[in-house]
Amino acid sequence: MTNALTHFPPTHAEARARLEQFAPSAAGQYARTRNFDYGPGQHDNVSTLSPYVKVRMLDEITVTRAVLSQHKEADAEKFIAEVFWRSYWKGWLELRPAVWTQYMNDLIRLRDDIQTQSGLRTRWEEACTGQTGIAPFDAWAQELQQTGYLHNHARMWFASIWIFTLDLPWQLGADFFLRHLLDGDAAVNTLSWRWVAGIQTQGKTYLATAENIAKFTDGRFPNVTNISDKAIPCEAPKPVAAGMLPPCDPLPLSKRYGILLHGDDIDVDRLLLRAKDPVAFAYADATAGHTTWQMAPHVGQFRASAAQGAVPADAEMQLLSTAQSIADWASQHNMEQIVAPYAPVGPMRDMLTAYRAIDGAVPLSLFRRPLDSAAWPHATKGFFPFRKHIPALIGEFVRR
Ligand SMILES: Cc1cc2nc3c(=O)[nH]c(=O)nc-3n(C[C@H](O)[C@H](O)[C@H](O)COP(=O)(O)OP(=O)(O)OC[C@H]3O[C@@H](n4cnc5c(N)ncnc54)[C@H](O)[C@@H]3O)c2cc1C
Repeated sequence: MTNALTHFPPTHAEARARLEQFAPSAAGQYARTRNFDYGPGQHDNVSTLSPYVKVRMLDEITVTRAVLSQHKEADAEKFIAEVFWRSYWKGWLELRPAVWTQYMNDLIRLRDDIQTQSGLRTRWEEACTGQTGIAPFDAWAQELQQTGYLHNHARMWFASIWIFTLDLPWQLGADFFLRHLLDGDAAVNTLSWRWVAGIQTQGKTYLATAENIAKFTDGRFPNVTNISDKAIPCEAPKPVAAGMLPPCDPLPLSKRYGILLHGDDIDVDRLLLRAKDPVAFAYADATAGHTTWQMAPHVGQFRASAAQGAVPADAEMQLLSTAQSIADWASQHNMEQIVAPYAPVGPMRDMLTAYRAIDGAVPLSLFRRPLDSAAWPHATKGFFPFRKHIPALIGEFVRR
């Protein structure tokens, strides 16, 4: 087992235990201390639930319900807002898939730049291996690689130094995070990097300062002198207008269907309520689909283990990693249909789109969660207009 999986055991029991342990401090204590990054293995002031939320081992409803069973909504407002930031970013990208396509195209161009521009290649390698000479940055690069996690404030400082001090393209930083973060998510990661770079909220960048780092790292990095004091917004294509949430049209069940889980949702119980007798289970790993560089093995291992733990104990679960292997799996079991959780914009969606284009591919039914269908269409503007809908969403889905 890698170090990252020791920090984040990929089991349902671990996810539940973390939620139970954290819930009592999700109100005032969280609001007061959440911005402090106390260092590797010392993140008890935040929930560290993100890897479990990523694969929907825990969903927003379960997390919010556990917190509201102990606190008034107004008291836990800060934590609940963070949980819904994730829904907001997911919805925002879902309504603007072209932003993901553009990011993927940028990465292809940057791969060539790295091969041909030795200065860029050296700066990028030093940043990825934590050898820049900027002490906190190098420590975060190593913590990320070893544990698969970084505190939110560290992610903000890291992204800011990556872009404005090291003068590296934000897309390469987003790729570095996605290759190592256990919670790495196409929407949250891409849009957070864009936000730091001054693209998401146009013209508004995030600048890491030595004072802020010294204060919120609890004295671990008191004298950072070599970081930029300017953050000029990065150039970006024109903003994309919000479209509609794509339809999600589960077909009537045919007689022989298989259940396909993936890294955006491994909650098989929800599918088994509707599709009770699958002929086979599989897990599709699309993690390599968003990068041309080496994925940290812990990312795929965490998600596949989480899926393995979700399927019935006596069921065999096949591991698939390409669109063609999904088609082969369906044909090997004479399936007439595949049933899967909805795959939002990102590598898994790209893999399923490629699957559907294969000649003779059996129909695929994607089930979207009712909370996602209700929340995501509100992500048309900024988070603050979205936030107004949170009480109603809690009323409809959490307090039911
Ligand atoms: C540059 C950058 C990249 C990021 N990439 C990712 C990513 O790939 N995946 C990811 O899940 N988060 C990402 N985040 C958001 C945030 O840093 C993590 O969700 C958070 O640090 C996870 O730790 P936690 O579970 O202890 O959070 P807590 O503070 O305990 O929050 C509870 C839950 O709320 C959600 N959440 C918290 N903060 C945010 C936020 N700022 N945006 C969206 N959701 C949030 C997460 O699901 C989290 O588990 C990124 C932030 C930045 C600045």
